[in-house]
Amino acid sequence: MLLHELVGHDRVVRALTQANASGTAHHAYLFQGPEGVGKRQAAFGFAALVNCVGDVAEPGRVACGKCRHCRRILTMAADPEATAHPDVLTLVPDGRQIKIAQVRDVLRMVPFPPIEARFRVVIVDPADVLGEEAANALLKTLEEPPSRTRFVLLTSRPAALLTTIKSRCQRMVFGRLPDEALIDLLVARHGWDRAQAERLAPVADGSVGAALALEGDPVMAARDEIMARFLGIAPGDTLEGLKLAAWISEHAGTRDTIINLLERLLRDALLVRLGVPQRLFHEDLRPQITAWAGRYGASALLARLEVLGETRRGLAVYNTNPRLTLERLLLALLAPPGAEGIQARVPTFGIL
Ligand SMILES: [Zn+2]
Repeated sequence: MLLHELVGHDRVVRALTQANASGTAHHAYLFQGPEGVGKRQAAFGFAALVNCVGDVAEPGRVACGKCRHCRRILTMAADPEATAHPDVLTLVPDGRQIKIAQVRDVLRMVPFPPIEARFRVVIVDPADVLGEEAANALLKTLEEPPSRTRFVLLTSRPAALLTTIKSRCQRMVFGRLPDEALIDLLVARHGWDRAQAERLAPVADGSVGAALALEGDPVMAARDEIMARFLGIAPGDTLEGLKLAAWISEHAGTRDTIINLLERLLRDALLVRLGVPQRLFHEDLRPQITAWAGRYGASALLARLEVLGETRRGLAVYNTNPRLTLERLLLALLAPPGAEGIQARVPTFGIL
């Protein structure tokens, strides 16, 4: 994907193209933002932009996609295994880390001019798995940047990078894609039908990567059944709540999707309860959600959203047992009206 074709990151694209067109591009960029929103595509798009020799209407602002540099860089963007362009170098983890030997191999070339292109572009993907030695070696080069090399470091976890490395890079912040942009992109670039894109995009939380992963996800396929079962359980019916938790637990690895679905459901219920005239995420279930929301006041629904947030933190930070955590979550969500004060604290009890 060429940089000007990137969807949903206009500010970043504008900053990079302006810098390139005016010859003020920084020697090192840090592309930070959530997984799956297009940082990697943007890095290759940038590599094409700075090296394009094609005939275009706006030189420096748009890459042609067809010249000898663009074509090979686009090949690399599409296929992570390809090493199609001698001046575009990628550092990717060998095992769990990017090792010092890999970094040295790349840095050895840096003092020399690029082989064919105007700029050598080194893409570190992701930069948060650089080992300590590797990070320090890279830092030295970033402190004394070679004139015809550009570094692009990618990360979804900027906190995991050395501050010294971050301070040497110009930061480009990639946000989550708005639902509409994600839907258009799934339809235009990935050939999805619009109805499917509209159903999955909100759960994917603005990430193309997450949407693609959800496409064949058994939980998404089972969304109708999960929602119908959840909405059909009477308040305080512990047994049915536990049964549903067990059923959900059988779908290994899709816990986050379920939590996302339930969170959307609670938000929908809150919107309905407050009478906000807005399209619901589970719009097709509006009558059932309206009936369900009718049992609880707005503050009870907010308490349930809070429980859900705590569950998410528990799983992410304390690595709580997923099956037990899901059971507790469902029991809290299905508690009779008025019992939220007690239930809201349940998921924080144990690190299991
Ligand atoms: Zn070109």
